[in-house]
Order: sequence, then C-alpha cells, then structure tokens
Amino acid sequence: MSVSSRLNEIRGQLPAGVTLVAVSKTHPADRVAEAYAAGQRIFGESRPQELKAKAEALPRDIEWHMIGHLQTNKVRMLMPYVACIQSVDSERLLACIDSEAARLDRTVDVLLEIHVAREESKSGWEPGELERYVASGNWRMLHHLRFRGVMGIASHTDDEAVVRRDFEALAAWRERLAPLFGPQFDTLSMGMSHDWPLAVACGATVVRVGSSIFGERDYSK
Ligand SMILES: *Cc1c(COP(=O)(O)O)cnc(C)c1O
Repeated sequence: MSVSSRLNEIRGQLPAGVTLVAVSKTHPADRVAEAYAAGQRIFGESRPQELKAKAEALPRDIEWHMIGHLQTNKVRMLMPYVACIQSVDSERLLACIDSEAARLDRTVDVLLEIHVAREESKSGWEPGELERYVASGNWRMLHHLRFRGVMGIASHTDDEAVVRRDFEALAAWRERLAPLFGPQFDTLSMGMSHDWPLAVACGATVVRVGSSIFGERDYSK
C-alpha cells in the first residue's frame, strides 16, 4: 500500500479533533514528500540532525515535532526548525530550550514527557521529580516556552489493561497540571502505530504514528 492510502486509512479512523503526527524518522525525504502531497503537514522526528536536514529539503509549511530524546547541546541546531518539542524531560532541558528560543526571539511549544511505562529504559520525568519541579514554580520564568501539555509512551505489552492504565495515568497528569499552566495546556500526545486506537479512547488529542504510514524502519541504513 502507498503512503497516501495508509494515511487516508488512518485519517478515516481518527475522530475529529485528534491530530496526527506522522513519524518520519529514518525514512528519506522523498517518502515524507509523498505524505506531504497527500495533505499531511505535521511530522515527527527523533534526531535533531535528521529533522534539520528534512526541514531544509522540504516545504516550509511543514510543522516539525521533536519526539525523541534531546540533548541540550543539540537544542541550538534544532531551534530554527522545530514547532514543538514533545520530549522534554528535565529542568535543565527546559532552561536550555527557553534560552535558545530567546536568542531567536521566538516562542516554542513544549510537552512534558512523563515516564509511565513499566520499562525502565523509557525516558520522561519520573512522577516525583515532576511534582517537585512543578511545585518549585521555576517554569514561570521561562517566557519563551508555551507549555502545551503532556506526552508519553505506554508499556510495550499485549496486555491491554496495562496499556490502558498507562494512558489513563497520562490523561490524569494533563488534567492535574492544566489549572497551573492555563488553558493552552490542552495537548495529550499518546498512542503509536500499535496502540493509538486505545490512546484515542483514553482521550489522546495527538497520536504519533510512524510504521503504519511509512512501513517498518530500517535502522541499519
Ligand atoms: C518512533 C516513535 C513513534 C512512532 O512509532 P511507530 O510504532 O512507528 O508508530 C511514536 N512516538 C515516539 C516517541 C517514537 O519514538
């Protein structure tokens, strides 16, 4: 199946109001261009260098989202190209993104990535750490960030009850933090190729779908 027919199939199943981020990491720019031609405008990438290269090669009206682990020394490279950084998981990274956005005299959307999965390797704020940071009020000084909501990855398991529990935990976080961050804190980014329908059932407003659109990734290339 072509990229456009896969895209249309997913769009046909997504309820109104749920945004599709097409995760194009590892896939070449011409595959992204196929999705663009089919009307897709929001793409997700995991590596700053790759996001930059694609942003420079592809139309300007694409909205690029960073969804992978981000090191502070890569933020400057990313800042001219990125619309939203979904994978923010530390105070240090927030401060760095804010100061790089300030240098370019812009604001940038950020999501707080929260660790809810059982796997230890998954990135994201640990709940206690996030509690302390939010309570510190330090985020109030980051004037070049727009805190838009939360992002997370569910446990990788076939046990639907576990996945549902992870999604519900993310939804609860967004609801709890929204009164602090204000009405723009409206985004709940969760759900990937294998679990997005359940994420949507649990209240996702953004799903991040890669392999169901572009096919399997080949990391050896
Ligand atoms: C790769 C990735 C996705 C997309 O995964 P698929 O299973 O290919 O849909 C979504 N979110 C994050 C954070 C990713 O790294």
